[in-house]
Amino acid sequence: MPTVAEHLATILAAVRPAEPVRLPLADALGLILCEDVSSLVDLPGFDNSAMDGYAVRSADVLAADAAVPGSSVTLPVVGEVAAGGVATTPVGPGEAVRIMTGAMMPEGADAIVKVEDTDDGTETVEIRAGVPVGLSVRPAGEDVRRGAVVLTAGVEIDARRVALLAATGHGDVLVRPRPRVAVVSTGAELVEPGKPLAPGQIHDSNSHMLAAAVVESGCVVVHRRSVDDDGDEVLRVLAELAVDSDAIITSGGVSMGAYDVVKEVLRDSGTVDFVQVSMQPGKPQGFGTVGERRVPLFTLPGNPVSSYVSFEVFVRPALRTMMGRAPVTRPALRARLLHGFDSPAGRTQIARGVATSGADGWQADPVWGQASHFIADLSRANAFLVIPPEVTHLDAGDEVEMWLLGGAEGRVSVSG
Ligand code: AMP
Ligand code: MG
Repeated sequence: MPTVAEHLATILAAVRPAEPVRLPLADALGLILCEDVSSLVDLPGFDNSAMDGYAVRSADVLAADAAVPGSSVTLPVVGEVAAGGVATTPVGPGEAVRIMTGAMMPEGADAIVKVEDTDDGTETVEIRAGVPVGLSVRPAGEDVRRGAVVLTAGVEIDARRVALLAATGHGDVLVRPRPRVAVVSTGAELVEPGKPLAPGQIHDSNSHMLAAAVVESGCVVVHRRSVDDDGDEVLRVLAELAVDSDAIITSGGVSMGAYDVVKEVLRDSGTVDFVQVSMQPGKPQGFGTVGERRVPLFTLPGNPVSSYVSFEVFVRPALRTMMGRAPVTRPALRARLLHGFDSPAGRTQIARGVATSGADGWQADPVWGQASHFIADLSRANAFLVIPPEVTHLDAGDEVEMWLLGGAEGRVSVSG
């Protein structure tokens, strides 16, 4: 019976980071950059104004002082320049050009008087405050020099880095692509949510949950469907999905029951191994490959909580490995329990809890429903409490390892 760590190690040894591809900036959020990127431009690209106001020669207006009545200076306004325009009229001695934020500095000017310190004139302007040379001028290249390396390979592209890439002239970047993931639930009892249930039927929540978890991990769901407990149909669907997916996740049909067809039809395939991992929930696990492209296949148990825990513990780290993201597992925090509970001997328990952070660090309250069919309590939880195999009882106040379950990390609309 492999431990959680052993089964995870088997999986991580078998999956590879995806080959880098060049993608438009709009599709790169959350992906890992695979090249050093240099700026194609100076930032700012040209000397420009940081304020709406008047471009002047500092020496002409230094005498003006808002605190001294009668000290203001009046200058003729010889031109105007807005952002995006070209400053064609130079500022000669004793002259001013009306200027907007981001507009090019006119020849001759060396400072900006902000509009609030003037009468906002268009023919002439009364300047009420003097400005030193360079005030409110943004010099070319002060932020980034053309040719300078602005991002290095290995960083994750977030919103701020998207801004930097865009500003430095890059419309596309070399990144590890999002794995295309197929999700299949199995079970004769499953009905698509929104459709009425006949006796004995249940709504298929696993395929929707796993698809959402895949997107939260930054990947793309290329197929989501449900199949009957029919071995031939399961094999046919897996072969079809293996054509254009980078990973396939199934739920259900891997325990000991009479209709556990996923295990039945793949057991002798030679490419998928079924194991009992020493954990609770999520004991029955299968992992291997399908199809000529040897697409990684994760066969997860059908109970919704078992399926979710299995995704977090085994699938998410594999998907992160394929994306080149690190670390692949959630950070292990420490939390103090608000209530005690029992844990099975010889198995790692992944209990669900509600985590809150207080003055003395993290606290965790285990949810009431710890059995693997409690979907409402799963949704209430925001953390896993990881209890080692040798621990069989915990009391309130005990400290445990805790993983905070994150929300959406890659919530982007990307077509397959
Ligand atoms: P299985 O692993 O197929 O034996 O299923 C174990 C339990 O999980 C059974 O109660 C199933 O009805 C339930 N189950 C299986 N698949 C799903 C699903 N897609 N959505 C919700 N519950 C499921
Ligand atoms: Mg089933």
